[in-house]
Amino acid sequence: MIIVLNRNDQNTIDELQEHFGNNHDIFVHHNRVAVQGITRDDLSDSEKSAAVEIIEDVPAAVQGSRVFHPEDTIIRTKHSMIGGDNFTMMAGPCSVESEEHITRMAAVAKANGATVLRGGAFKPRTSPYSFQGLGEEGLRFLRRAADQYNMDVVTEVMDDEHVEMVGKYTDIFQIGARNMQNFSLLKAVGRTNIPVMLKRGMSATVDDVLNASEYIAAGGNHNIMIAERGIRTFDNKYTRNTMDAGVVPVLQKLTHYPVIIDPSHAAGHTEFVTPLGLAGVAAGASGLVVEIHDDPAHALSDGPQALLPEQFKELSDKAFAIRDLLTEMPAEQAEAGR
Ligand code: PEP
Ligand code: MN
Repeated sequence: MIIVLNRNDQNTIDELQEHFGNNHDIFVHHNRVAVQGITRDDLSDSEKSAAVEIIEDVPAAVQGSRVFHPEDTIIRTKHSMIGGDNFTMMAGPCSVESEEHITRMAAVAKANGATVLRGGAFKPRTSPYSFQGLGEEGLRFLRRAADQYNMDVVTEVMDDEHVEMVGKYTDIFQIGARNMQNFSLLKAVGRTNIPVMLKRGMSATVDDVLNASEYIAAGGNHNIMIAERGIRTFDNKYTRNTMDAGVVPVLQKLTHYPVIIDPSHAAGHTEFVTPLGLAGVAAGASGLVVEIHDDPAHALSDGPQALLPEQFKELSDKAFAIRDLLTEMPAEQAEAGR
């Protein structure tokens, strides 16, 4: 249940804490107090009369919900603002392959508007015999390349035991689709204050991903973004997954966290990455995360879906143009243009 109070009604907040704090989970956001597991009848008369509104039908992922936290979350990293009216481009190879390569890819990403460099050093491969990543050495290469170009780093952490070590190198943890419901990993990143990009699992519903985000928030880390990377449906003959563009406005309605689109893993083939990425931007995503490579035929992972530098430039130019159109055109002008 969420109790909406008048602004600055600290007395009632204190009263609610005292009344329910020992036996229930309580969260406070400005004038909104969420108390888990109670009904209106559990409130005292003074609590009831202090309430401007009582919302009983609240989602399980209450801290991530718009009803609890109406304004957009904006995540601030050293070089990026993610969420709200900002648009954030993230790019890099699927895997960190060598120091020279990640440095070249950082230059390409930065030159085309990316402020976040991606690259996996711990790779969740479908087969145990595929390239598993360079590990901590890869993280060192990634960090140095990002620093050279004044960029942030996003990289996957696969294991709760690695959270501390990966956290020394990264600005944003990526939780991969395969780990979206790895609850001990979610709790471990939730105990840090490093932003988290939580990727929707390939068979996860909207509520599944929101509940997964709540595990992170429950630990105290509210710097969460949710990434759509395509879900498995009945037809994967032409694309690797089905990109759910509809999830962008749906998530934006339900949660205050920024929504990011990963068109690369959705498409699976280079030629479809740009149109899907642009569709994500048009749907209102706060950013894209895109795989790029200058020699995809020899990439150590996901070469078939990598954009060449010139292809990434095209995607990025168009993505920023669409975003400008969406955010800068005043409503009257949009109306007049029809
Ligand atoms: C990746 O980002 O390279 C990756 C493996 O992503 P996902 O978890 O979405 O498959
Ligand atoms: Mn990949």
